[in-house]
Amino acid sequence: MALKGLDIYKNLPRENCKECGVPTCLAFAMKVAAGQAKLEDCPRLSKEAQAELSEASAPPQRLVKLGADPHPIELGQETVLFRHEEKFHHPTAVALRLSDAAGEEEIKKACSAFLKLQFTRVGQVLKPEMIALVNESQSPDKFRAAAQIIRGALGVPMVLMSDSAETLGAVAKALFSGCRPLLYCTGDASVETLAALRKETGSPLCVAGSLESVAERVKALADKGVKDVIISAGAVSLSEALVFSTQTRRAALGKKFRPLGCPVLAMACGEDKAASALDACVHVSKYAAVVVSDAWEPHLLLPILTARQNIYTDPQKPVQMVPGLYDVGEVTQESPLLVTTNFSLSYYSVEGEVESSRIPCRILAVDTEGTSVLTAWAADKFNSETITAALKKFAAAEKVNHNKLVLPGHVAVIAATLAEDSGWKVLVGPREASGIGPFLKNSWKKDGL
Ligand code: SF4
Repeated sequence: MALKGLDIYKNLPRENCKECGVPTCLAFAMKVAAGQAKLEDCPRLSKEAQAELSEASAPPQRLVKLGADPHPIELGQETVLFRHEEKFHHPTAVALRLSDAAGEEEIKKACSAFLKLQFTRVGQVLKPEMIALVNESQSPDKFRAAAQIIRGALGVPMVLMSDSAETLGAVAKALFSGCRPLLYCTGDASVETLAALRKETGSPLCVAGSLESVAERVKALADKGVKDVIISAGAVSLSEALVFSTQTRRAALGKKFRPLGCPVLAMACGEDKAASALDACVHVSKYAAVVVSDAWEPHLLLPILTARQNIYTDPQKPVQMVPGLYDVGEVTQESPLLVTTNFSLSYYSVEGEVESSRIPCRILAVDTEGTSVLTAWAADKFNSETITAALKKFAAAEKVNHNKLVLPGHVAVIAATLAEDSGWKVLVGPREASGIGPFLKNSWKKDGL
């Protein structure tokens, strides 16, 4: 949690010398608290006071980076318990689990399958980011061979999991120099061993166990200079894992308890794949920075990625698209013209139904600041005036030869005014996007052309 201005002021020299370019120490403290000045700008601040203030003003949850620069995955540094208080900053990374015991051919097939696991939803591409490779074979050679195949085929950030710190170190050093894989030693490894592993590989570590043991080990590692740590409850039940992730977030944010101020890795694996996928959705909602999952089938993975997309959307900024007149399919001048808002979910719902209908259309996305049809109408952002302005702005009359538009059924009340103001013939369409296909096939043909 950021320090307040008065907390900073108490630690300043309070000499009002103006050397920082600010008239008083208090004004300087306020600027630092607002992020408009840095502590180093005060040349009279002692090193001890600077260190104390820097430590106190550090984010309550650490930021950990996985993968190679310049595009690492950033995890943690969350600032709130509840999304609506601000937003969640760094989306959960989904790591699909692979065993090195699967054999090289199966691993190659899995890599090919991984590349196909992409979905487009409301204009965004959803996909898993990582592979979690488990040293189930217990063989260092098989582990290394599997890691090499995955690295060569995918090049994505990885979680390397093994009972043996030695095996993790050897593979990380040989294959992942500068790539920051997450090293998760699932066996008993002392703090000294883990610190050495970090030193020789430069990779972040995962420390698993109970809240108490994890806090102790994170503190001991921090004392040895190891700060890039992700914590986990390990392979425990969903309820135990939830208690772990919730308590760590509360301890870090509410009590500024640094040893638990680390991103959390959750395991969502089990024989019942559907139940495990559901567990993964829960972990996405409740604080996991990384979820290790067996959801290789698209129908299991998509709900996890969708949950993540929803949870990590800024609640104060609707997902919106650029307003405009969009062509869907091979449009002609006879193609229907549908009107909606520039709220992504509204637009892409309409677009999806148009694509399914196989009837090419133009869609006018009116600028409603990313709000949906009814919300925008209630806020007076989707009305006769704004739609008429959008028709003119995007030269809709030049693109079609029929002078007819389809208005969402939910705002049928503005149809007459819109027809009068715009000069277009207004057809009232279905209330829900799912009715667009039948509407185009039946009503448009009858009433439209
Ligand atoms: Fe105060 Fe330091 Fe600024 Fe001088 S340089 S006014 S001591 S904050």
